[in-house]
Amino acid sequence: MAAERTEIAGLGEFGLIDRIKSSTTIQNLTSLKGIGDDAAVIDIGTENLLVSTDMLLEGIHFDLSYMPLQHLGYKAVAVNVSDIAAMNGKPEQIVIGLAISNRFSLEAVDMLYEGIQAACKNYKVDLVGGDTTSSASGLVISVTVIGRAAKDKTVLRSGAKANDIICVTGDLGAAYIGLQVLEREKEVFQTNPEMQPDLEKYEYLVGRQLKPEARMDVIHELIEKNIPLTSMIDISDGLASELLHLGKSSGLGIKIFEDKIPIDSLTYDTSVEFKIDPTTAALNGGEDYELLFTIKPSDFELLKNHPDIHFIGHTHNNPNQNVMISKIGTVVPIQAQGWKHF
Ligand code: ADP
Ligand code: MG
Repeated sequence: MAAERTEIAGLGEFGLIDRIKSSTTIQNLTSLKGIGDDAAVIDIGTENLLVSTDMLLEGIHFDLSYMPLQHLGYKAVAVNVSDIAAMNGKPEQIVIGLAISNRFSLEAVDMLYEGIQAACKNYKVDLVGGDTTSSASGLVISVTVIGRAAKDKTVLRSGAKANDIICVTGDLGAAYIGLQVLEREKEVFQTNPEMQPDLEKYEYLVGRQLKPEARMDVIHELIEKNIPLTSMIDISDGLASELLHLGKSSGLGIKIFEDKIPIDSLTYDTSVEFKIDPTTAALNGGEDYELLFTIKPSDFELLKNHPDIHFIGHTHNNPNQNVMISKIGTVVPIQAQGWKHF
């Protein structure tokens, strides 16, 4: 009898991670939080150590025909720093795993590291090691980041309580629409190499895709002002799936309001130009690297006038009811996207 074969796609990315998690046992008391948050939390005595890793693959996560190597290096660090930010922590070190084929020159590697060093400088992290190997074809860059958070300030995905206010930083959907612009320009260029890309008008969107920033600025501010957050996650896969992660981890349901989702006007207009619903871009686009967090209703006063924090809804007691109230008042279920890469 032939061995059974199950397609991974049927399980989905999150299903696969859940499966790995359920077959994992923790053997050390110092492993405070394992699989299932933005970073692992490790007890190092007076503080918590945070560890997270993220890998970027050529052809899956980036296309070198429009991704400059400096930006790629910067982004590889920023997306990792973002996961430390999502724990309310501060990043301190990174190690980098690099696989390169002979397609890449020394100059290309220099450019990649220029971006990496720029991000290290900006986020005040030290590059302390890594591993280098050859690759059969594409470029692979894997970054592991190490950070710290105070024991009583470490914020998990699972800490929200019913009726907490759901907050989001910055604006959403721009990175996804920026990617659509880049893909369109690439196609135009491939059909007619004489055509020069027309990106100026879309600079903000393209910048959000090519050079995302981790919101350490917000974290430094929240830590400084001693603002208590009940739960947090960073928005890498799109608002919808991150909301569901927060809700599921906290054992709660989510209710958000479409008209409260922050969308930049250029994102909005360009979405319409691409015949994409701007709300869909914000919910399912991903790669925004903004922060999604919850606060107690009694702490609303502390943040209500913040120019870069938006209040999009609240949590509630029914974990099976995750909904968005649309602009016209209809109730729309929030659905996870995820798994774009499989
Ligand atoms: P994020 O989007 O914040 O990077 P992921 O969705 O990639 O988070 O991962 C969710 C959780 O699953 C994290 O705790 C991560 O460390 C863990 N995880 C992801 N892939 C694996 C894997 N192959 N083996 C073990 N743990 C994993
Ligand atoms: Mg994350």
